[in-house]
Amino acid sequence: MKIGIVGLGLIGGSLGLELRSHSWETIGVSRSRRTCEIALERGAVDRASVSLQDLGVVDIVFICTPIAAIAPTLAKLKDYLAPETIVTDVGSVKLATTQTCTSLWQNFVGGHPMAGTAAQGIEAAQKNLFLDAPYVITPIESTPVAAIKKVEEVAISLGCKVYFCTPEEHDRAVSWISHLPVMVSAALLAASLGETNPTVLALAKNLASSGFRDTSRVGGGNPELGVMMAKYNREEVLRSLHDYRENLDEIIQLIEQEDWSKLAQILQSTQKARPEFLS
Ligand code: NAP
Repeated sequence: MKIGIVGLGLIGGSLGLELRSHSWETIGVSRSRRTCEIALERGAVDRASVSLQDLGVVDIVFICTPIAAIAPTLAKLKDYLAPETIVTDVGSVKLATTQTCTSLWQNFVGGHPMAGTAAQGIEAAQKNLFLDAPYVITPIESTPVAAIKKVEEVAISLGCKVYFCTPEEHDRAVSWISHLPVMVSAALLAASLGETNPTVLALAKNLASSGFRDTSRVGGGNPELGVMMAKYNREEVLRSLHDYRENLDEIIQLIEQEDWSKLAQILQSTQKARPEFLS
């Protein structure tokens, strides 16, 4: 199988490294010659080019650009593709792109490999990034079954666990477990950095250990990606943020009222629920 990858960054590059290890031929397209050179040096692709035209020979194309560029990339790419070529994307939001991309290319399948790091760009690409990660495929009614099967086949070859759902369900679920945590974690970092006593701030930085590392990790990630999540999944991100604020307000109120037993009840129920949520 010949596989095209547009956008040779963290996800596109990591995808290439993995797919090549399965002896699939990969052709990468980036806007920059330098990115193409690095991708070749790193073994992320067999061939690299700055021209979408070079993808005319592939069986399947993964669009791995930032979310805002996914549909515009497909609009430019489609004239070069054979009609049977399957196009999929890896965007972290699905509803905003799936309808537009399907209207541009009938053989389009929305997808989202749920793995990443705080880094970005081709230098950050790594092998085994997707191992044991969830891979969500979000077909709509008109998505051809054969195209869905092909994307599933590639996702399984990456070592991913595949889930199917609608784009709407995807966006609502990932708002809880990915987009909301980014905003909460960023707010935690911003609030901590707002400490006005320099001695206390310096001490806090020295004392910050695994707990702060865990809770602040996703707030320290790629800012462009965070903005895209909020912009393209605005409704669900706002819904989850408002629900989160209600929970936070309740906790503030309980502490103000010194209602330790009610606070204990909440913490006991979250302690009990967490292992099941993550199982
Ligand atoms: P990234 O490391 O910044 O890579 C994106 C690549 O796309 C860049 O290397 C860039 O390459 C290219 N690009 C940037 N702007 C472009 C544009 N306007 N038009 C065409 N190409 C453009 O980002 P990433 O983390 O791999 O994210 C890529 C996609 O994966 C996003 O849609 C994101 O939602 C999704 N995703 C990310 C994660 C994560 O945790 N990072 C996880 C799952 C899915 P050139 O500048 O060389 O062209």
